[in-house]
Amino acid sequence: MKLTIEATNICPLPCHDSDKNRLLRERGVMDTNTFKSIMERCKNLDIQEIKFGGSGEALLNPDITDFINHINLISSKIKSFLVTNGTLLSPKIAESFAKANLKNIEVILSPPHVPLTTTLRGSAKGRIYENITLVAKIFQNIKIVHALPQWSDEQRQIVSQFWRIRGISKVFFGSRLACGVVIKKHETPLGLRPPTCALFRGEHYITWNGKLISCCHDRSGETEIGDLDIESPASLIEKKKRITDRQFFYPICYECDDDRRYGSKGGIQKVVRQAINILTSS
Ligand code: SF4
Repeated sequence: MKLTIEATNICPLPCHDSDKNRLLRERGVMDTNTFKSIMERCKNLDIQEIKFGGSGEALLNPDITDFINHINLISSKIKSFLVTNGTLLSPKIAESFAKANLKNIEVILSPPHVPLTTTLRGSAKGRIYENITLVAKIFQNIKIVHALPQWSDEQRQIVSQFWRIRGISKVFFGSRLACGVVIKKHETPLGLRPPTCALFRGEHYITWNGKLISCCHDRSGETEIGDLDIESPASLIEKKKRITDRQFFYPICYECDDDRRYGSKGGIQKVVRQAINILTSS
């Protein structure tokens, strides 16, 4: 089982306040009591992975390292990883993460990107890139995702090389910002999409105040499945399963361009989608 924990839904970047992506849910930071209570109540669910990320910047939560340490106390088998926009990443934080046995840091960098040494000096983006370079010397398992899908293959190679010489070999190009905001429309037109979502089925998104919701795209709380403080995690998971089995679709899902909804690349979902496209175009 995979949990996504919203350590906070506050972010130093302005995406939450743009008209299209305005976050209407109450904003806040998860406190240690809420986190420990969630872990206590979920400990019998066979958790394999906990991701700190979602609608806010996890590094804004001052207790984030304590959360990771607490996971280790519960079970050394649970992998914890963290998604960040990189703005608050520092060698000091990386050191504490390495000590806490965090498995992986995924830095999703938002545009505009300037991966050329001459333009980096003195710029805000340059400082982030320099910090990431220092962090990579301390924390080995770091992955960079540039949220800028329109780059050509040649540009992507230059960018990958830029990071490689700074000690980072895992470099990807995605269509989502760290908070999940999608910046590229999916190739499959609306109306031709499979009714269920792999992300909804496979991951469980817990907000900073302990609510189970569909995913990071729920900006208003309209998909709330339940409150982990009141209902048992097992009954909420069962409720989610019933929603999936009925192929129920939330209104926000109709316009969702998140590619994770189709599951892993090249998987059965892709084949199904292609088949639907062929059938509907003939
Ligand atoms: S389709 Fe999109 S909005 Fe709906 S649950 Fe999946 S990821 Fe979230």
